[in-house]
Amino acid sequence: MVKYLAAGAIHRPPAGVATALAGIFGADALAAVQVRERVWWLKPMPWIRAITGPGRIWLRGSGDDFFADPELVLHEYCHVLEQWDPRRLSVLRYLGESLRRGYWQNRFEVEARRFAARELPGFERRLAEARRLAEDRLALVELARDPGEQHTERQTHTG
Ligand SMILES: [Zn+2]
Repeated sequence: MVKYLAAGAIHRPPAGVATALAGIFGADALAAVQVRERVWWLKPMPWIRAITGPGRIWLRGSGDDFFADPELVLHEYCHVLEQWDPRRLSVLRYLGESLRRGYWQNRFEVEARRFAARELPGFERRLAEARRLAEDRLALVELARDPGEQHTERQTHTG
């Protein structure tokens, strides 16, 4: 119980976000990241939305809010997969950078911001594509259930 409270509940990325993230980082790397939401020890720090560590993203708020913010998602996954996991980032290095340059100019933050800005257009394209495919699958399910007139319009969007 104590362990559960300390860790927060696991929140998996929605299917479309997972597909889009896998397109950028690779499916294996993505699967190794665990997102935990509503972490109690972040509650007293309302200015922090997320904290990362090796293979982990801890959120103060909900996973739904987090995964609805593509730029933040890219930023945090960059910290984990491009910085923590290759062991370029450590707590000591991060603190050293923060003491020298503050939060905004911290090189790990600069890199994550640039990464998110650079990858955002492609990520949003992939998200839109995943949404379109999911809608088409729904349309096909409707067609299979009831191949009536009203559904033929939807069918032209598939494929
Ligand atoms: Zn950051």
